[in-house]
Amino acid sequence: MYAIDLKGITKIYKGGVEALKGISLQVQEGDFYALLGPNGAGKSTTIGIISSLVNKSAGKVTVFGYDLDTQLEQAKSQIGLVPQEFNFNQFEPPLQILVNQAGYYGIKRKEALVRAEKYLKQLDLWEKRDQPSRELSGGMKRRLMIARALMHEPRLLILDEPTAGVDIEVRRSMWEFLQLINQQGVTIILTTHYLEEAEMLCRNIGIIDKGRLVENTSMKSLLGRL
Ligand code: ADP
Ligand code: ADP
Repeated sequence: MYAIDLKGITKIYKGGVEALKGISLQVQEGDFYALLGPNGAGKSTTIGIISSLVNKSAGKVTVFGYDLDTQLEQAKSQIGLVPQEFNFNQFEPPLQILVNQAGYYGIKRKEALVRAEKYLKQLDLWEKRDQPSRELSGGMKRRLMIARALMHEPRLLILDEPTAGVDIEVRRSMWEFLQLINQQGVTIILTTHYLEEAEMLCRNIGIIDKGRLVENTSMKSLLGRL
């Protein structure tokens, strides 16, 4: 079963920027997959399309077999998204943000509290649970978005530059957490422009350049050629 199956995806933004020029790629269930490429290559556009935040211009996307065009709700419920920008209400504390998120998915409050406690502890945010989120450091805010993305227990976690601007120690602990989640069976796709990060974490890798997939291979085989 593919977690993600992209066929011939193109994206032309209003104004004419051709961000994706026919991307096809498959990600296996259980994989830890990196999309690597320079700024402006089309990484965010690709994951925006998978998570249905960006409309594709052409092509077909399925998520665990659900077609984005005809089975959008089923497809969306499989995905947890960690965007690049902090898009939560910074006046709310972490615990409330997580419980509210669970509410959007119809998860009962009692279960929401159990999950929130688990993720806040695993991501070292438990002590900050009742503090307004704006008081958190950048790394904590990013971890809060990871916890939020996991509240409905998605089968696929998508992260856009998850460790951008995070110092090396916190980055390492985030890597460990993502590896743990992956070992528990969650498929992970992340974008990065650090080869080192992809190398540390990922089994397979796609390289995007100017809207085209120029490489799609195992990390091992890529490193063997460098
Ligand atoms: P990456 O994530 O690899 O940095 P993006 O997917 O963000 O690349 O961008 C790919 C191209 O599309 C770039 O040229 C970027 O300027 C353009 N782009 C991204 N978002 C928009 C948008 N909303 N409207 C117009 N152009 C966009
Ligand atoms: P969609 O086709 O998915 O609806 P849009 O083309 O409407 O996306 O783009 C969303 C907004 O982002 C637009 O208002 C656009 O002007 C703005 N935008 C333009 N250029 C960029 C860029 N390089 N990066 C991010 N956003 C951009």
